[in-house]
Amino acid sequence: MDKIYDVIIIGGGPGGYTAALYCARGGLSTLVFEKQAAGGQMALTSQVDNYPGFEEGVDGFILGEKMKQGAERFGVETRREEVSAVKLTEDIKEITAGEETFKSRCVIIAAGAGPRKLGLSGEEEMTGSGISYCAACDGMFFRKKTVAVIGGGNTAAADALILSRICQKVILVHRRDELRAEKIYQEPLFSAENIEFCWNSQVEELLYDEKITGIKIKNKITGEISEKSCDGVFVSVGREPASELFKEQIAVSKEGYIVADETTKTSLPGVFAVGDIRTKEVRQIVTAAADGATSAHFVQEYLAEQTAKQG
Ligand code: NAP
Repeated sequence: MDKIYDVIIIGGGPGGYTAALYCARGGLSTLVFEKQAAGGQMALTSQVDNYPGFEEGVDGFILGEKMKQGAERFGVETRREEVSAVKLTEDIKEITAGEETFKSRCVIIAAGAGPRKLGLSGEEEMTGSGISYCAACDGMFFRKKTVAVIGGGNTAAADALILSRICQKVILVHRRDELRAEKIYQEPLFSAENIEFCWNSQVEELLYDEKITGIKIKNKITGEISEKSCDGVFVSVGREPASELFKEQIAVSKEGYIVADETTKTSLPGVFAVGDIRTKEVRQIVTAAADGATSAHFVQEYLAEQTAKQG
């Protein structure tokens, strides 16, 4: 007979691996699917200063690996594979990855969020040929070149700062006349000599042949259209939940987040949602980790109830 895990966790970020640690340490057979590196989005952040316990801060990739190893110490299995299909509505859940289907009594969805796209023609085609969603990963490809950063939040500000140290010039394009980014980012940003600010501006068009050559932007106040030459475009306009795979079976908010309160319980029995994919106010590493611990508690409770029903 096929193995039936107590719990399968989809996503190996801080929410997923904290859930895995608590579940396995509580004696549950636990399998984690992670499509990239352990740590999820956190693995792309070179310096994490707001996770407690690290007086000098910590590299997000290293923290992700440590979370994985900490969970595996208690018997958690990890598969480095992307989940392609799920069946969550029955008592025994089915998770497909590659050619194989895995079964479990509970599922914890910890798939996180991915970058929001601009939705412009050529964006997908030029990803990797000038379009990037991660300055920390791709910045070095644009050494001494000119790049545009789109957005006005913390990510855009942090990206513009990283890139200003690598590139010859950074053009920051924001749709309003003030940044959403916290003040701590603003002073170094405004004092960097190689950052040009395009306020109240929306990118209308990506200019490219085989690679990105520039952007066409529209000033929303004056209506003026202008072209800016650049070699790369870093899109930093926020994130979207990675809920595509689940949303036909489970309740999601209008923004696509899986509806779950502080208990992490979703609209489906035996299915829990943790971290950035869940409806919540504060999306941080530490709140994702807290969700992971909470979900394990309610997984245990759910499994005990199921056993009592059967028994
Ligand atoms: P965010 O805070 O949602 O900011 C997104 C930015 O993109 C906003 O400035 C928004 O403009 C703009 N935007 C959204 N859609 C757009 C579109 N279609 N076209 C053009 N511009 C668009 O996202 P984020 O900066 O990725 O941050 C996400 C979360 O991570 C936040 O909670 C943030 O605080 C956190 N974070 C924290 C740190 C840290 O160091 N503590 C670092 C990075 C991220 P408007 O301002 O006009 O809405």
